[in-house]
Amino acid sequence: MSTLITNIGELVTNDPDADDLLGVIERAALLIEGTTVAWVGPADAAPTADQQVDAGGRAVLPGFVDSHSHLVFAGDRAAEFAARMAGESYAAGGIRTTVAATRAATDEQLIAHVARLVQEMRRQGTTTMEIKSGYGLTVVDEARSLAIARQFTEETTFLGAHVVPDGDPDEYVALVTGPRLEAAAPHARWIDAFCETGAFDADQARTVLEAGIAVGLRPRLHANQLGPGPGVRLAAELGLTAVDHCTYLTDDDIHALRDSGTIATLLPGVEFSTRQPYPDARALLDAGVSVALASDCNPGSSYTSSMPLCVALAVREMRMTPAEAVHAATAGGAAALDRDDVGALIPGRRADLVFLDAPTHVHLAYRPGVPLVAQAWIEGRPV
Ligand SMILES: [Zn+2]
Repeated sequence: MSTLITNIGELVTNDPDADDLLGVIERAALLIEGTTVAWVGPADAAPTADQQVDAGGRAVLPGFVDSHSHLVFAGDRAAEFAARMAGESYAAGGIRTTVAATRAATDEQLIAHVARLVQEMRRQGTTTMEIKSGYGLTVVDEARSLAIARQFTEETTFLGAHVVPDGDPDEYVALVTGPRLEAAAPHARWIDAFCETGAFDADQARTVLEAGIAVGLRPRLHANQLGPGPGVRLAAELGLTAVDHCTYLTDDDIHALRDSGTIATLLPGVEFSTRQPYPDARALLDAGVSVALASDCNPGSSYTSSMPLCVALAVREMRMTPAEAVHAATAGGAAALDRDDVGALIPGRRADLVFLDAPTHVHLAYRPGVPLVAQAWIEGRPV
């Protein structure tokens, strides 16, 4: 079965061989065969197909790839948010209230909640998402969180090292790298740790990631969110695919990222929701560091599932160009998950795409807060 989408006002391909960053084709068409892109080019040169869809001059983009979210939880923390907006400072301890609610929830309640958030993401154009554990924090609850996440995505991450409980952090690391890791590993592709003052230090984070690597998981890291620290350099030293947050960086951190090729995943929903300074995306891009954008959707520090909002914030608050922001939210996210089947609309890639009720990608930042995503398709079908 082949489908030709034609009359596309602007097609963003992210073709790495194109002259411009987004590989834009105007007045374009796109041919899908089965679940993958078979051809892209000018509409007047398009091949025939079994069926045809008229895009009506809309822009078509690769679906957003949200490489960082924490969707498996129960309850919300609206009161904490309101208090913060009234002037109280953010403290990592708020995670514990979500942990208590998550442990108390049934499987059915957690599944229904993740399903609702995944639907919310899809309505906003996200076609691939990563989902972390980290609100269970027992052997059983971490494994169950990941098993639930697996029902929605292959990109599951064991974040047992999310918050340090009262007591000895080194003993806690032994638990995370021992029985919890053993139970979690069958349901996870990645392992992550929260490397920050007040959470895990560099040695503890390294221990957690190396234990994950030893059982076949891929490492990633939360680092330099709340202040400067060793996390980003640890990520570069270990050659991680991506390191996330990168809000407080020194020149040495930026050089380490550039030299290692580690992607800096920026999460502007966090700075928006916590009134922290935004990461210096311009310094990263100008130094030649690859950048991804993700939502960090979680009930504490960034309860948005909207990649269009992240694009708008990246442009307005982080001085990225609209093209850089859209690239970071699509191809950047794919690279941050080490995926070469999504994030671009070129022959051979998955036909995961978004129709915008707008003529160009620029409208995502130009018209912030407007629901511009008309429809998302995954593997060649509307969702
Ligand atoms: Zn996070």
